[in-house]
Amino acid sequence: MTSYAERPWLARYGVGRPADITPEFTTMLDLFRASAARSPDVELIRYFDGVLTTADVDRASDALAVALLERGFRRGDRLALYLQNDPAFVIGLIAAWKAGGKAVAINPMNKHRELTYLLEDSGATALLCLDDLYADVARPVIASGQTVVRLVITASALDFQQRLDPRLFGSVLKPVVEDALDLTDLLDRHAGQVPPPVHPNPDEVAILTYTSGTTGVPKGAMNTHRTMAFNCQTYRDWMALTGNDSVLGVAPLFHITGLVGHVGLALLLPCPLVLAHRFHPAVVLDAIREHRPTFMIGAITVFIALADVPDATPDDFASLKVVYSGGAPIAPAVRDRIKAQTGLNIHNIYGLTETNSPSHGVPLGADAPVDPASGALSIGVPVFNTLARIAGEDGEDVPVGEIGEIAITGPQVVPGYWNKPDATAESLPGGELCTGDVGFMDADGWFYLVDRKKDMINAAGYKVWPREVEDVLYTHPAVREAAVVGVPDPYRGENVAAYVSLLPGARVTPEELIAFCRANMAAYKYPRTVTLVEDLPKTTTGKILRRELRGR
Ligand code: AMP
Repeated sequence: MTSYAERPWLARYGVGRPADITPEFTTMLDLFRASAARSPDVELIRYFDGVLTTADVDRASDALAVALLERGFRRGDRLALYLQNDPAFVIGLIAAWKAGGKAVAINPMNKHRELTYLLEDSGATALLCLDDLYADVARPVIASGQTVVRLVITASALDFQQRLDPRLFGSVLKPVVEDALDLTDLLDRHAGQVPPPVHPNPDEVAILTYTSGTTGVPKGAMNTHRTMAFNCQTYRDWMALTGNDSVLGVAPLFHITGLVGHVGLALLLPCPLVLAHRFHPAVVLDAIREHRPTFMIGAITVFIALADVPDATPDDFASLKVVYSGGAPIAPAVRDRIKAQTGLNIHNIYGLTETNSPSHGVPLGADAPVDPASGALSIGVPVFNTLARIAGEDGEDVPVGEIGEIAITGPQVVPGYWNKPDATAESLPGGELCTGDVGFMDADGWFYLVDRKKDMINAAGYKVWPREVEDVLYTHPAVREAAVVGVPDPYRGENVAAYVSLLPGARVTPEELIAFCRANMAAYKYPRTVTLVEDLPKTTTGKILRRELRGR
C-alpha cells in the first residue's frame, strides 16, 4: 500500500487520521470460528421473538454445508442468497464458506429480469431464498433454463418466530412451495453433522455484491475474505464496540453495509444482531424498544422515518449510543432535526460496495465540520490503514481544497469485479479505487463530497442506474427514445424521472409507462414521473444529454 510518507503533501494534511491497526483475522471463517469457540451462548440473532445463539448458527451452518456438499456443491461454487433480513441469510452465508464456496448477495426487491442477469453473471449453482420469493420470482427464472442453478433451498420467513406481525406479512400466508428443498427439513436431516474442515485463502472471494459502480452494468464486486474481515474489525475499533453491545440490523443484509456493518460485526464481537425482516418504521421502533440495541447504522432516510413515527419519544432511542449514517448525503439541518426529536448524535460515514463499507468516517465523538462554502457536512477522515486522495482529470494529486475524484487505497478495497477485467482496469487502476465521487479535502484532512461524477441516482439511499431503467422503457412498443435522470425530492433526496419520446403514431400515457416500469423492475427504481417530449436534447455525436434534462 502506498504510505503517507510516499505522498508528502498528504502527510501534511492527514490531521485526524487514526493510527493503523493490525488485522486479527484474515478470513471470515476464522473470524466466526473464534467467536463460536469463545462465546457459544451469546444470543447472536434476535428475530421477532426467536433467538439463535452463536452455537445454534454454528450448528445450523454446519448442517447446511453438509446438505450442500451432499447435493453436488463443490469448492468454489456460488450460493446465491435471495432473502430479506432473515436468520437464514446468515446461516446460508456461513454455510457457503464452510462448504468451500462463495456467496452471492441478491437484492430481494429484484424481479425476474434482474434476478436472471445476476444468477447468470455470478454462475451460481445453488440458491437459497424465502418461499414467497421463490414462488413469485425465482421459480419462473429457474424454469426458463437461462441459469445454471440446480439446487434450490427455500426458507420460510416464519420459521424463526412465534409471532406473526401483520404489519409485515399481512394476514395471508403464501403456501409453501413443494418443488424446492426446505431449509428446516435439511437442517433437521443433517443435524449434528459437520463438513470436512476448509481453510479459505484470504484472497478468495467471500461474497459477490452487485453494484453498478462507475459504469452502467451491474458488476459483482469481489469482496474477499481479507477485505471483508478487515472492515469488520474497522467497525469494531472505529466505533469502540465490544461483546456487550448489540447491533440493530436495519440496513438490508444483501448490501455491503448490512453485510459488514451488521452481520460481519456481530459475528466478530460476537454480540446480538437484532434483525428486522424489512424496514417498517413502527416495527423497527418496537424492536428497538424491546431489544435495546446500542449500535445503529443506516441511511439518513431510515433515521427520518424512525424519528417521525407518531408515538416515538427520545426514551425509545436512549439505548443507541453509537449511531452512524452512510450511503447518501446528510443535510446538516436534517441531522440537527433528528437530534432534537430523538437525542441521536448521528455521525457521517462514507464508503462503497467496493470498499466493503467504510473508507471514511467521522471519528466517534468528533464534531464533523460543515464546509462554509457549500454547506456540506464532512464525510470524515480515512479509516484505519486507508489512504484517500483527490485525483484530477489525469489522475494527478490536486491541491488541498480543490475538487477532484476521491480515490482510495486500503486493505478493504476489493481486487476487482467478477469476470469483468475491463471494468476492473477502469475503476481500480493499479489497485486504487476511483470512486466516481467528486469531492475535496480541507487543510485539516477532512473530506467532503460535492457531487457524483457518475450519473447514478440516489433515491433514499437506493442507487438507481439510469441506463437500466431506460433499457426497460425501450422494451415498450411505443417508446422511441428515453432518458432517465434524478430530480431533487425533499424526502428521498432524489427521485427517478423519465423523459420519453414516442414512435410516430404510437399512443401511450405517462401513467401507463410508469405502470409498465413498475411491473418490470424493483419498486425503488421505477420512474415516479414520466414526461412525454417531442425530442430529447443530444450532443453532436448523438448522445442524449441527460445533464440538460436535469435542469428542467
Ligand atoms: P454503494 O456501492 O451502494 O454503497 O454506493 C456507494 C455510493 O454511495 C458512493 O459512491 C456515494 O456516491 C454514496 N455515498 C456513500 N456514503 C455516502 C455519504 N456518507 N454521503 C454521501 N454519499 C454517500
